[in-house]
Formats: sequence, structure tokens, C-alpha cells
Amino acid sequence: MEQAAILLAELKQAGENVKIVITTHHKPDGDAMGSSLGLHLFLKAAGIPSQVLTPTDYPAFLSWMKGNESVIIYEGNEVVGNKLIAEANYIFCLDFNNLSRINEMGERVKESTAKLILVDHHQLPQKFEHLSFWDPKASSTCELIFRLIDKSGLKNLMNKEIASCLYTGIMTDTGSFKFSNCTAETHKIAAELISLGVDHVDIQERLFDSFTENRVRFIGYALSKKLEIMRSYNTALITITSDELKEYESQTGDTEGLVNFGLGVNGIRLAVLIIDRGKLVKMSFRSKGTFNVNEFARLHFNGGGHINAAGGSSTETLEETVARFKKVLPLHIKELTS
Ligand code: 5GP
Ligand code: MN
Repeated sequence: MEQAAILLAELKQAGENVKIVITTHHKPDGDAMGSSLGLHLFLKAAGIPSQVLTPTDYPAFLSWMKGNESVIIYEGNEVVGNKLIAEANYIFCLDFNNLSRINEMGERVKESTAKLILVDHHQLPQKFEHLSFWDPKASSTCELIFRLIDKSGLKNLMNKEIASCLYTGIMTDTGSFKFSNCTAETHKIAAELISLGVDHVDIQERLFDSFTENRVRFIGYALSKKLEIMRSYNTALITITSDELKEYESQTGDTEGLVNFGLGVNGIRLAVLIIDRGKLVKMSFRSKGTFNVNEFARLHFNGGGHINAAGGSSTETLEETVARFKKVLPLHIKELTS
């Protein structure tokens, strides 16, 4: 990570006119926004300007983070976004490692002359970047941004606002410090962030105790009416139609975490959520133990992610996607039941 100190020195030397874009994956989650704004605020504290550009919108429960008001959403602002990408000297790519994860922006980033810097913890990187801070063992991209700041020689610039962004991503990607990606190192970093003034109770409340009534009722409906337990495959499946999303006035982020309930059923090793998003059918996969959902998503549904948490998509109809999922499941019966 001496690379971090060299990079920071390079950015500082580039001066106030340096053009830096920070981007992250489609439908950013807590880790994506926490790492993007955490890095943005840190660079700002170091006197280095940057612009966060997200491919799409993100959940309202993440909008409290400092710097949120300056974020530009590419979808709907393509002219501005394309200009930013074309003129950038550096583009930080956070929490994704395949350009398909940033939708149409991917082509523009590929064409750009900027130095591409990857900070990511997902499996099997595409390797489009010029400089990489990649560690699939890291709990989160926020943990990697913390390490980068730690090694940059400018750690003294870390403040409560930066720490709160980074804490958010560590907390969300570890399922509030309970998944297997959460290590002693993760806890040490979290402790350090709390020492900097992070109000961890407040962040928990903002993220997990601020659901709309519709969101809670939607979860209840999905669990009571839409959860299918496939005992012979130790698999739990929830399927959601676009009409159901409409009925509960579902907002961006409202389905986050729903897939995890399936894993809460005893004996279940694979939990799947399939949602009709209109243009695409989106899928979320979660597993317990050794069943590798990154490989499963990659193999069958054009996706990827981590060993125990991954996602994918399909251009078929919801019914066709569910049928195909059920058709490929028997191919994995050994891994799911042995
Ligand atoms: P989620 O199910 O919460 O959307 O995503 C779980 C994990 O898989 C996240 O780390 C996310 O970045 C990754 N992921 C989700 N969807 C996709 C996808 O379509 N392709 C790839 N490569 N990764 C995905
Ligand atoms: Mn992440």
C-alpha cells in the first residue's frame, strides 16, 4: 500500500485543477456510497477536488452522508456525466470490478484517457484499471478506503464525517458485523472510526429503523405470500412482480435485505430473490457455508459478487427466469445438500 502514499502525492502535485471523478456501481448501496463520499471528503480535506458520479439513483436512507448534495446521478444527466468522464484525469472505480456494473457509463470510462484506479473487494476482476487496490478478503470497499487513507501519509485528515461514511459501508457489507467477511481487522477499524466520533447508534437507526410503513408491509407480504421453501435443495426463493412493487410504492432500496430472510430458515443454504425491474429481471443470491453464489451467478445469470453474496440479471421474463432458475438448481444438488 505504499502505492497509496505515491498516489496521494501525485494527486496533490497535480494541483487544484486536477479533474477527478469517483464512481461506483449501479444502484449504489451503503458500501458504494460510503466509500465514494468517504474518499471524496478525504480528498477535499487534502485540498484535492473530486466529483462523485453515480450511474443511477440510490436509497434515500443513504442521503444523510456529508457531501451527498454534490453527487451527480448519471441517469438523466448524461451530457454532464459524459463531459466529466471525458475531461477527467483520474477516475476512481469503487466497489465494482467490471465495467458492465456501471451501465452505459462503462463505455465512456473505457474510452476515457483518465488514469483508472480500482478500489474493490469483489471476486474475479475484469482488469480494466491502471492501478488497483483490490482485496477480495476485505469486508468492504470502505475498509479498503480506510487502509488507503491509513497508508497515504495523510491520516491526520480523517474526521468524523469521513469516518461516518466509511463506518456505514463496513456495517452494511458485514450485515452489522456478523458475516464471515468481518475479521479482527474489521473490528479494529470500526473501533478507530468510533474513536473519531462516529455515532454508530444513529447510523444504525438511519439505515435500519427508518423504513416507510409500505416497506415494512411489503416485507411482511413477501415473507407470508411469496416465500417458497424448496426443501430438497435447501433453497429459499422469493419472486416479486413489477405490479407488487407498484402496489407497495416500492422505492429504490426498499427490497434491500429482503433476500437475507430466506437464509434465516433452518437448513436453508441458498436464498434467492428474483424481481421484475421492467427492463431487466434482477436477482440476488445469498448463501451459507461453501456454496459459492459468485460462481452460480456468473455461470447462469450473467452476474457475480462474493462467495456468499452475489447478484445477476436476466433479459427474459420473470416467469422464464424463475423457470430457468428452477431448471439449473438440480445441477447443484450435491453442493446444496451434501
Ligand atoms: P445485491 O444482491 O445486494 O444486489 O448484491 C450482492 C453483491 O453482488 C454485491 O456485492 C453486488 O455488488 C454484487 N452484484 C449484484 N448484482 C450483480 C451483477 O449483476 N453483476 C455482478 N458482477 N455483481 C453483482
Ligand atoms: Mn461492497
